[in-house]
Amino acid sequence: MMLKVSDVKQFLYCPRVVYFTYVMPVHRKVTRKMEYGKEEHLEIERLERRRGFRSYDLSEGERRYRTKLCSERLGVEGVLDMHIVCGSGCFPVEFKNTSRHPGLNHKYQLVCYAMLLEEQYGKPVRHGFLYLIPGKRVHVVEITPNARTFVRKTLDQIKMMIARESFPPAPRRPARCFECEYRNYCADVV
Ligand code: SF4
Repeated sequence: MMLKVSDVKQFLYCPRVVYFTYVMPVHRKVTRKMEYGKEEHLEIERLERRRGFRSYDLSEGERRYRTKLCSERLGVEGVLDMHIVCGSGCFPVEFKNTSRHPGLNHKYQLVCYAMLLEEQYGKPVRHGFLYLIPGKRVHVVEITPNARTFVRKTLDQIKMMIARESFPPAPRRPARCFECEYRNYCADVV
């Protein structure tokens, strides 16, 4: 089966979100926050088209937007917000609508995209960027061997959870449940 790159992000945030996507699909309300996120992405794209590359510490390059990527080998596909191609390589960029420090789930989602870009271009990706929309800050993410291994293991865990149809425990941080659109389906959380 093909997973989505966003499943890596969701699984690391709360594995039940992925369970509710594949094992026991339930109706998911489209929230105002989700709609707003789409509008923000389009606005950032518009602004990015007019900018140079200084915030990415690059002297030149070409931006490519919303690229569909797929790896049969990893069993995962997704649409990457943006990537930059230049003489020194290619670099994935994900836009995130958060003013906080990016979470590990965001980091490993980007690492997964980097692995797909490597397959697409046939050359290694050393680092990528999380663009934090509210503060217009760019956060560098190193694509290390350990990070790649972690992504592969996460994909295996997701596939195993789906194959066994095992309902995962709730995340240790109850705050994650407060704004979750699946809250009605998790009777054991506050
Ligand atoms: S309500 Fe909590 S446990 Fe249930 S899916 Fe959402 S984050 Fe996970």
